[in-house]
Amino acid sequence: MDNVSNAVHYIFLTTAACFVIGLHLMNHPRTARRGNTVSAGAMAVAIAATVWLVAHEGTISTTGWLVLASGGLIGAALGLYAAREVKMTAMPQLVSLFNAVGGGAAALIAVNDLLQADHPAALGARVSLPGALDIVIGAVTFSGSLIAAGKLQGVVSGAPVAFPGARLLNVLLPASFAAGTVWLVLAPDSLVALYGLVAVALLFGVTMVLPIGGADMPVVIALLNAFTGSAVAMAGFVLDETALIIAGMLVSSSGGILTKLMADAMNRSIANIVVGGFGTGDSAPAAEEGAPAQVRSVSADDVAIQLAYASKVIFVPGYGLAAAQAQHELGDLAKMLTDHGVDVSYAVHPVAGRMPGHMNVLLAEANVPYTRLKEMDEVNPEFPQADVALVIGANDVTNPIARRPGNAISGMPILDVDRAKSVVVIKRSMGHGYAGIDNELYTDPKTGMFFTDAKKGLAELKAAVGEFVG
Ligand code: NDP
Repeated sequence: MDNVSNAVHYIFLTTAACFVIGLHLMNHPRTARRGNTVSAGAMAVAIAATVWLVAHEGTISTTGWLVLASGGLIGAALGLYAAREVKMTAMPQLVSLFNAVGGGAAALIAVNDLLQADHPAALGARVSLPGALDIVIGAVTFSGSLIAAGKLQGVVSGAPVAFPGARLLNVLLPASFAAGTVWLVLAPDSLVALYGLVAVALLFGVTMVLPIGGADMPVVIALLNAFTGSAVAMAGFVLDETALIIAGMLVSSSGGILTKLMADAMNRSIANIVVGGFGTGDSAPAAEEGAPAQVRSVSADDVAIQLAYASKVIFVPGYGLAAAQAQHELGDLAKMLTDHGVDVSYAVHPVAGRMPGHMNVLLAEANVPYTRLKEMDEVNPEFPQADVALVIGANDVTNPIARRPGNAISGMPILDVDRAKSVVVIKRSMGHGYAGIDNELYTDPKTGMFFTDAKKGLAELKAAVGEFVG
């Protein structure tokens, strides 16, 4: 190894350490931004070092450099534009699209490597095995993430899309790409094996994600994120590129841990979700017999009196808070109540919103003290002592129907909002949440529905509470 190669390998080692430090810093909201900067900076250095090594080895033609430079510039410009312009509510779709792009790019690397090899038949398993795995995982991630982004954007139905034989197909397709992988490893020059593998993997991405609905999408999104990392790591083996292997494995393992955490939080098995759209509900929701339930509508003044005279209030934020961008109003209201001596906390459900950690990011934006955020297991025993549980744009994560079998969110642990002494829900209508089912909380006699946009409603509440406490 000459001096430049040596130096580049030391740079890779340092950047790998920075990736790990960056991930560690992301453990806490206070340091997360710095963690992001450290990791992104390290990746920029790793890319520059790779370019330096390639230039030093002189293996790229002038056309190659032009393609590399224009691809890099166009990609960076598009990424920068998308990241700066995206609305907070569209962030989950963007993350899914980034997953798709990462997986697709990794798969293309392997396809290109196999097609360009001088003697493909002579490629050893050291290249053809990671190459085949890269194609499978990358292509599944590409098509699966596109469908997931479509579901989050509302372009593809968010409800489970069932078709006859879906479960059987979801078992047969992995079996066939396992066979295709072996075929490609044994015969890396077979174009039938190569293109067949790409096609089957792309199809599986679609059939895997389409039937998933209800409350299981968060698990799938985390899983696809882990897949992207694995595909990138495999691409690193194909290219013999250390930085890619390390970065890919870090994404893969952290995505894997996140998937497990989300699945545990949802009381789901990953295998069940992937093979059969587990959260689709086996039958219609088990509705209670009897007279149609009544809904009690309340005004800002009604709610303000309750809040001002409460000793303990728990806020329950959900997707509607993000959609309305009402986090600052909520933070202000919390401050008014806290200054008035009310004990205020925020109940954060692991799948509230549309991406993992969505509520944490949103509330951090409004400078809500982290000590006031409580996770589900911590806050649930506190609901019976709460004078008011104020639900702001949350729906599925509060729906008591999850405690009964036979519906799209059966078995999902929920925030025990219905156990508070009094409940107020801010939302615009009796419309459904992501899982598409009625919420029994809204017809509970102790629930008051404050029908309004979250931002407008919270502003009115601030004004009304101000009259009582000010
Ligand atoms: P939900 O999607 O269940 O409900 C959100 C509610 O917000 C809707 O019922 C809507 O009612 C209301 N809303 C929308 N806009 C506004 C507004 N401007 N002002 C006031 N209210 C508004 O949200 P939850 O957070 O309770 O649950 C998240 C759901 O999303 C779960 O089913 C979860 O599985 C799923 N999911 C989560 C992901 C994650 O990673 N966190 C990823 C993918 C899916 P209305 O229209 O009447 O106002």
